Amino acid sequence: MRRRWQFIVVHNSGTRQGSARIFDYYHRHVRRMRNGLAYHFVIGNGTSTGDGQIEVGDRWRRQINGGHVHSDYLNNIALGICLVGDFNRDQPTRRQLEACEELINYLRKRCGKVDAHYAVVRPHREVNPPQWATDCPGNAFPYSWFRRFQE
Ligand SMILES: [Zn+2]
Repeated sequence: MRRRWQFIVVHNSGTRQGSARIFDYYHRHVRRMRNGLAYHFVIGNGTSTGDGQIEVGDRWRRQINGGHVHSDYLNNIALGICLVGDFNRDQPTRRQLEACEELINYLRKRCGKVDAHYAVVRPHREVNPPQWATDCPGNAFPYSWFRRFQE
């Protein structure tokens, strides 16, 4: 559906390892989310999946709302991409950032412009409601990386 996805939100998993399958299990059975994996995409760091490997989540395939932001309103119009890693301790790998950039460029074109601009790209911590403050995607994330998506 064009024009639905107006935001793209970047997360870290907060864990040093993991994959779409592992996070799906956690979200489904521990967090009790009916649709499982809360993100639309997961990008590996070379532990549980390849370094820079993009896994496509069920929520993208089905084009349904995410469960990755503490806001129903945003979850309905924001795609979620999770980079595997704890970026309070480590940095994302070069390949993760390259894959993420490529994916975002693809998604912005694919989803089209709304009000003359492409989907807005933000780190999770800039979009969560203040009462649910988060440091995601972590204090070691190179935030200047987001500047390339300004347009
Ligand atoms: Zn997050």
